[in-house]
Order: sequence, then structure tokens, then C-alpha cells
Amino acid sequence: MITSKLIKFVQDIYQTKNFIPLHAPTFAGNEKEYVNNTLDSTFVSSVGKYVDQFEQQIEAFTGTSKAIATVNGTAALHTALYMTGVKAGDLVITQALTFVATCNALYHMGAEPVFVDVSKTSLGLCPKALDAYLEDNAFINNDGFSQHKLTKQVFRAVVPMHTFGHPVELDELITVCNKWNITLVEDAAESLGSFYKGQHTGTFGPFSAVSFNGNKVITTGGGGMVLCKTVEDGMHTKHVTTTAKVAHPFEFFHDEAGFNYRLPNLNAALGCAQMEVLPKYLEQKRVLAQHYNSFFENSDFTFVVEPEYARSNYWLNAIICPDSEIRDDFIKYTNANGVMTRPIWKLMHRLPMFENSKRGALPNSEWLESCLVNIPSSPTIIK
Ligand SMILES: *Cc1c(COP(=O)(O)O)cnc(C)c1O
Repeated sequence: MITSKLIKFVQDIYQTKNFIPLHAPTFAGNEKEYVNNTLDSTFVSSVGKYVDQFEQQIEAFTGTSKAIATVNGTAALHTALYMTGVKAGDLVITQALTFVATCNALYHMGAEPVFVDVSKTSLGLCPKALDAYLEDNAFINNDGFSQHKLTKQVFRAVVPMHTFGHPVELDELITVCNKWNITLVEDAAESLGSFYKGQHTGTFGPFSAVSFNGNKVITTGGGGMVLCKTVEDGMHTKHVTTTAKVAHPFEFFHDEAGFNYRLPNLNAALGCAQMEVLPKYLEQKRVLAQHYNSFFENSDFTFVVEPEYARSNYWLNAIICPDSEIRDDFIKYTNANGVMTRPIWKLMHRLPMFENSKRGALPNSEWLESCLVNIPSSPTIIK
């Protein structure tokens, strides 16, 4: 009953009876003009003014010292982990409740994921669960680094993910990271426009990653950025993502094994125009979330709201169903009626490549896996 009301509600919001996706990009600003400029100038590839401009816009918006554009968010995270000094055989702690890209990036550094539970308030890495896992499984060696009690592997990084744009409990996580001397690397792929106590997510550790994939808050088609805390680290990150070529008018000399993770100028042009409308999108998404919140009030479903310490971008709206059976019925009914809804990701240790990974107890992750659903979240003007 509430499900059929919801369909009507969502159709009214988006002013359509056609299929309503979870999150679709909108291009109502200067996108065409800027993209056409790259075509007219022929600078569509790795050289051109839009890459610099886009990086500066992200720096100004997030307050980070240096932002380095990459070909996608996974590449940005891979680079952030490389810059952090993650080595083959290291352990990297993250959430079992995340999109697979988080784990793929660390896997391709030769590291192993360790899964720790999420908190019910943020849906992201739980500081208490993190500390409890380390108390049970780690010791601090003579060099001051944390090692696994049995395997002696080094815990090199902690990678919290700001699920659906809701910031994790950063102060508490940083306290635990400092206690165990492990570097914080935020997977801020979903949280452009989300702030923790007034500071933009992705600016807390030395390196973080954001994404501009087609379903994110703003898009460059495909794209990402590494946010770097210091200008010096930012320069080195740029060097590494652009084949580590030493500047010279004609000679080729590369001083380390780099990546070709450059964002093409064509994509950056789209990003520059999308950054101009980002504040408007964020406002619209906030209003949409408020409408959903009132809609689900006094129902059996709980609408997920931002933690009290944070301002969320409300990237993907989510509800928590009373149980998994109701969840399944809800998903079937809404999708059959033209409103896209989706369960949260399968927990990472259920995927074949990560099934033998180390992990703590995951009660909150398992609970969310069984009953959380995402509902349409594209920015829209609500009358
Ligand atoms: C989108 C996303 C990524 C990766 O971004 P791409 O640009 O798609 O490579 C990484 N982590 C999380 C949590 C994401 O949602």
C-alpha cells in the first residue's frame, strides 16, 4: 500500500510516468559549450586548459591543497594507496559494506583487505569496531607500526567509505588510526559535497579519492580525483599519474614506474560545467531527501538521514525495510512499476576473490545488507 503510494509520489516529483532511474546525470549548464570548445581546439586528450581548471575548481570547493584529475575514481583510489606507500603483502582495513572498487584498488596494490563492521549512524566504518579488531589482532612493533599478531603483516591503511555520501565518524576514526599508527585514506567517491563538522570529506588523510562516474553527484562521463593534503604530495601525485616523465622539451626520461591515469581534456570540460551547477544539485537533493523523510514518517520503513555531525550530499537516498522479505517485495513491485530501486551491495567477503579475507564480526553490515534499499535520487526541482 505504501509502495503504490510511493510510486505515485516519485512520479509526481519527477513529473513523469516513464521509467525513473536511481540516479541520472543532467546537463543544463555550459556542458555543450565547453565540450565543443575542446573539439574546436582539437585539444581533446591529455593536454588542454580544462584539466587545470577542473582541478582548481575542486580545490576551491573542497578546500584541499591539491586535486589531481584521474581517468576514474578507482584509478584515483589506486593512486592514493600507491602514494600512501601500500606494499604487496600489506593489510588494508576497510568496510565489507562498500562498492567493489574500494577492494579492487587495494587488491591491485598487492595488499589484502581486512573487513570491519560499519556503524548504524553513518553506514560507514565503525571506529569502535575498528579499535576492537585491532585490539584482538594487532600489536605495535619496535618501529611503531601495527602488525598482525599471527601473520606479522603490516596494517598499512584504513579506508573508510562515506556510504551514499553520509560522512563517517572521522574524529573517532582518526583517534584510532593515530593510536595504531595506520594511515587514513578516505574513499570519498560518493561524497563530493559532503562535509564533516564543516570540513569537506576527503580532506582528512594525506590522500583521498573522489569519483565523477555517470551515476555520481556530478559526472565527467568517467573520471576521478586524488585529493592531496600537501602541495608537495600533490605535485608528486601528478607526476605518478602522468607516467612519471621528467619535464624536458624532447627527451624521454621517467624516474619511477608511473601510471597513465590522466583525465582527458574532453572529460574535464564536462567537469568544469558540472562544477558550476553542483551547488544547485546539492540544494535540490537536500530538498528531495526532506520530502522522502516526511513521506516515510510514521511508516514501517526508516528513511536514512545524515548523521547529526555532518552535512551529507544525499547522493543516493536509502530506506531500511522491516525485514528482507518485505525488502524483496518492495524491490520487485517498484521495479515492475517503473521506479528503479536496488538492494545495497553484497558484502565484500561474499565475493569469490575476497571470501577468505580476514574480518571482524559484521552484524551491522549483515543487517543493512538484508534490508536496505536505494530509491530514486537524481537532482530535481520540486514544486
Ligand atoms: C563509484 C565508486 C568508486 C569508483 O569510482 P569509478 O569512477 O566508478 O571508478 C569507488 N568507490 C566507491 C565506494 C564508489 O561508489
